[in-house]
Amino acid sequence: MRSAIVTTRTKHFLRRLSAFLLLFIIPLSLLSSCSKKEEPPADSSDDEAVADLCETSEAEFADGANNSALSEEADSTVGEDKAVLEIDENLNSEPEEDSNLQVEIGSGDAVSPKPANPDVVPPSLNENGEITEVTDNWLLLVNKTHPLSESYEPTDLIVVQHQVGSHAAIMRYMRQEAAEHLDAMCEAAAEEGHEIGIRTAYRPYSYQKGIFNDYANRYGEEEANRFSARPGQSEHQTGLCADVTSPSVDYKLTTEYGKAPEGIWLAENAHRFGFIIRYPLGKEDITGYQYEPWHVRYVGEEAAAKIYEQGITLEEYLGILD
Ligand SMILES: [Zn+2]
Repeated sequence: MRSAIVTTRTKHFLRRLSAFLLLFIIPLSLLSSCSKKEEPPADSSDDEAVADLCETSEAEFADGANNSALSEEADSTVGEDKAVLEIDENLNSEPEEDSNLQVEIGSGDAVSPKPANPDVVPPSLNENGEITEVTDNWLLLVNKTHPLSESYEPTDLIVVQHQVGSHAAIMRYMRQEAAEHLDAMCEAAAEEGHEIGIRTAYRPYSYQKGIFNDYANRYGEEEANRFSARPGQSEHQTGLCADVTSPSVDYKLTTEYGKAPEGIWLAENAHRFGFIIRYPLGKEDITGYQYEPWHVRYVGEEAAAKIYEQGITLEEYLGILD
């Protein structure tokens, strides 16, 4: 009997033990096991993985930084292009189409119209009525009705020392005599506290052709010619003119330059160095160009002084108003 009671108690104990094990020990064990799985093993490479991730992130960041740096470089490059384009836009606003100035070119004439000024020797023209020969005639007239040929290319171009802003290297040149006088003018201005330098000067035929073609492709040739010069019709191809600017107008080519201290100095002193403001205010109907206080043209000191004193244009000085 006693033995049976013990057996019964034992069974009861075992049952309780089983229940205890089922209800608490095994689940706890399982939970413990699961939680362990979420922790990194002591010998795991998690740190390395994190380090890798960090390095990757740093590498990406570094790449990003490099990209930023590159972007800045690219931006500055774009800036140069932008500056050139801005200049081009301004320059292209010079030689605009003025139907009154359009003439038939290609008549076969071999000599340009005789100027009223007896001191001026008319340039010889090719069969298309274009000026081909580069001479030391500083009074050369170039506009829509007096274009340069594709082959017109000065051989005495030198780099102008006084430069401001960024611009394409190809446009830093002028013919030697003009460049030397321009630098002398800029130095004289500097001595009086005015910083003046060129943004762009010489522009080859091919460059202007590229600009015009680009506009023509985008807007059509007729529309392009409303705001862009056809190649050969830009005075910049002579190597005798430059677009100058100064800090007070943020180195832009703007009509505000005419009211700026440097622009005023330029208008009052350029003739002393053989330059004229080529497209004065109020003379648009004669020059065919809008007012451009930044565009100076070398004509030599004698002519520049007369043009300045009389308040006239190059066309009027030459007596060529066709
Ligand atoms: Zn210009």
